Amino acid sequence: MHEMGLMDAVLRMVTRVCEEEDVGRVDAIVLEVGELSGVLPHFLRECYEAIIEDTPYEHTRLEIETVPGTLYCHDCGHEFRPDLSDLRCPQCLSRNLTPRTGRDFTLKEIIPVFEEEDGESGDEP
Ligand SMILES: [Zn+2]
Repeated sequence: MHEMGLMDAVLRMVTRVCEEEDVGRVDAIVLEVGELSGVLPHFLRECYEAIIEDTPYEHTRLEIETVPGTLYCHDCGHEFRPDLSDLRCPQCLSRNLTPRTGRDFTLKEIIPVFEEEDGESGDEP
């Protein structure tokens, strides 16, 4: 599944960033998913749940922010939010369109666990 590969790549990226920035535990991973990226947020969630099992991310939340997609029509210059089941310019019905926003899938933020309270520390000597 496409989303499975994506989530796998995301987790590897998160792991790398955490090593570089010396982040211990991750509270949440924030992804930005464009409406026109072809990635379906509910599949992402399912894959995420499956992929974090038995990893250090088992308790890490996944937050998905959807970025609205807009298309530009080359024939009449109209810019609009498309109906995803019918990608045509609503003004002139052209299909000569270019995405302006909402094409990307990005790892937006990694939110670390702030270990300030004296809760369950003491793992390390
Ligand atoms: Zn048009």
